[in-house]
Amino acid sequence: MYDIANIRNQFPILNETVYGKPLVYLDNGATTQKPQCVLDVINDIYMHKNANIHRGVHHLSNVCTDLFEQARKTVARHINALSDAEVIFTRGTTEAINLLAFSFGETYCRKDDEIVITTMEHHANIVPWQMLCERKGMKLRVAEIFDNGELNTEHLYSLLNERTKLVCVAHISNVMGTVNPVKQIISKAHSYGIPVLVDAAQSMPHKTIDVQDLDCDFMAFSGHKMYAPNGSGALYGKAKWLNEMVPYHGGGEMIDKVTFEKTTYNQLPFKFEAGTPDYISAVGLGRAIDFMEEIGMAAIEEHEDEIVKYTINQLGGIPGIRFIGEAKEHSSAVSFLLGNVHPYDTGMILDKMGIAVRTGHHCAQPLMDRFGISGTVRASFGVYTTKEDIDALVKGVDRVRMMMS
Ligand code: PMP
Repeated sequence: MYDIANIRNQFPILNETVYGKPLVYLDNGATTQKPQCVLDVINDIYMHKNANIHRGVHHLSNVCTDLFEQARKTVARHINALSDAEVIFTRGTTEAINLLAFSFGETYCRKDDEIVITTMEHHANIVPWQMLCERKGMKLRVAEIFDNGELNTEHLYSLLNERTKLVCVAHISNVMGTVNPVKQIISKAHSYGIPVLVDAAQSMPHKTIDVQDLDCDFMAFSGHKMYAPNGSGALYGKAKWLNEMVPYHGGGEMIDKVTFEKTTYNQLPFKFEAGTPDYISAVGLGRAIDFMEEIGMAAIEEHEDEIVKYTINQLGGIPGIRFIGEAKEHSSAVSFLLGNVHPYDTGMILDKMGIAVRTGHHCAQPLMDRFGISGTVRASFGVYTTKEDIDALVKGVDRVRMMMS
């Protein structure tokens, strides 16, 4: 039994009103709200435990170090990493991918090598690879998608060759909710000896993730999209790669020994964690994972899949609705356009009704170009999304239709 009333009770912000109307929060793909247990853990550290980690001999420093390393264990266990050392804390997906693009690029890539991405990537999984290609004189190859928003895997496979250094693919499209067959893509890429990065920003909040089962080489995700504080997230990498890769940032904590002549680096994962990390947000990430596991990842997935189906069904009844992304495997978000109404106008009118949706290109401009549109309206879901939220959205969109026609 999915106890949604109990889940909602744990999110203080859901009691807020907007323009005097109850908040209907359907912007979870951008960021999720935080449960009381995560807010409490942050507060508790600042009020009772705070001290910089790793470097101290004193009590509070050791307490925070233990909490931080415990959070790493929680992340590693949650994604079934072989070892805690394969989890590098970052500020989120963007930083994780930039880290990888630099460290992987400097270690393994040469002129004329190629990186393969897809048409549906978020800018965070495009631009760092473009920057690498510019630095090294490499080529970015882009796998096509079908009109229904599914990835053309045969086209992706046709791009793989001896020059391909890495395949970078979103697990779930942040715009269309398309779930990509990443396990199959990884297996195919590995048959050519090519490693794969999975951008799990949109899948980690919604699905059971097992990096060993997927056999991905790298995975990036953001804490703030999975009920954890801003400034938390991680790059998972197989130790065999991470051990070989040069570090990204230089500074404190990532070193073994520093002299002016030469510096040697710390072991994993510290080699990639220069400076003071956001250890409090990392602890919050660990607590958010516990929160999701208490509900159960399978239960979350089932609930949200039902919400996606319900949304498509109910919105689909409104004349003039066009969905952007109608993949068979569809999770977590629904994008649409209403006749000729600009997405921004739809979003503005919905906002006045207390309904928070995101409009625009969703940091996926090449995908917008692929569909010949400037943006969409996106409703995206979380553990606390109810059918009543969707009913409010549908009523709101129908009102927009009447106002604008
Ligand atoms: N990739 C995808 C698929 C995303 O949805 C997002 C966030 N919208 C990102 C990467 C970037 O995440 P962040 O801004 O948290 O670094």
